[in-house]
Amino acid sequence: DQLVNQIAAGEVVERPASALKELLENSLDAGSENIGVELIAGGTKLIKVIDDGHGIERDDLALALHRHATSKIRDFDDLQKVATLGFRGEGLASIASVSRLTLTSRFDGAPHAWRVESDHGRLHEPEPAALAVGTTIEVHDLYYQTPARRKFLKSDSTEFAHCEDMVTRLALANPDKQFTLIHNSRANLRVMRGDVHKRCAALLGDDFALHAVQIDEAAGPLRLWGLAGSPTQSKASRDAQYFFVNGRFVRDKVIAHALREAYRDVLHHDRHASWCLFLELDPEGVDVNVHPTKIEVRFRESQAIYRFLLTSLKKALATTRA
Ligand code: ADP
Ligand code: MG
Repeated sequence: DQLVNQIAAGEVVERPASALKELLENSLDAGSENIGVELIAGGTKLIKVIDDGHGIERDDLALALHRHATSKIRDFDDLQKVATLGFRGEGLASIASVSRLTLTSRFDGAPHAWRVESDHGRLHEPEPAALAVGTTIEVHDLYYQTPARRKFLKSDSTEFAHCEDMVTRLALANPDKQFTLIHNSRANLRVMRGDVHKRCAALLGDDFALHAVQIDEAAGPLRLWGLAGSPTQSKASRDAQYFFVNGRFVRDKVIAHALREAYRDVLHHDRHASWCLFLELDPEGVDVNVHPTKIEVRFRESQAIYRFLLTSLKKALATTRA
């Protein structure tokens, strides 16, 4: 079973940022309002996530670290959601199999917290601990005992950049939550709860948010909303391209092509092609299970999506030229 976990880990936990993604998504699923992230050495030495979600009961702590132990599928409706959001019940088990992990949690209503330690998947008995309601997970020395995987990790600063980008993605998609990020004991990022516009200002720059065109277009079951870089902004923040499909960050050629094309059509260049955009559509119309890390998607009607994105962005950009 440990081997199975370690193999699965190779798929799910490519690098510190992918472990961080799993932890942050769990914190969000648990209804957290404040999520703190502490990293050491780009997350290779320590990834710590502190949340104020509903917590985990003592008897469920060990279960949470088991493969296919998800508390998130209760009925058929949930199963549909699973298809959309990709809950798999193997995130924590995979991470635990390739690290030393400490899970401390205080369930809403419990008199105190419990802590369970796992050494490369070998669990210790839960012990009482002190913690406010919520969950804190510490992942030490990711891939330390799996040198074959560890050698794929890049420099600490590169791994940190990936982690920072992961926090940025999740913070843009969840502007009503507070996030903090500390790297090597230094505060890196702190965003207070607000709306998408405020969050874009905090994470992608005031200049971008101030000058960006606001989009909110709908066509049948499709809706596109958010901010796109405009030619009136002074600095082009080129690599700020954040696109979310039904709330999940995705990177997709069809999407990127349609958006760039809109810039070229209207402005005759794509120097301001930066965006934080949200596409919403019927979950039936999109397959997110293309890749374990769920960054890629496959649209049923990819031509229709392409045309919708192109026309919506062109329309919004055209207003900046008037
Ligand atoms: P999944 O998220 O797919 O259910 P995971 O392996 O990521 O699987 O997590 C296993 C289970 O552990 C979750 O279903 C949840 O019940 C519990 N869990 C993990 N992290 C948290 C957290 N931060 N707060 C509350 N419960 C958590
Ligand atoms: Mg999870």
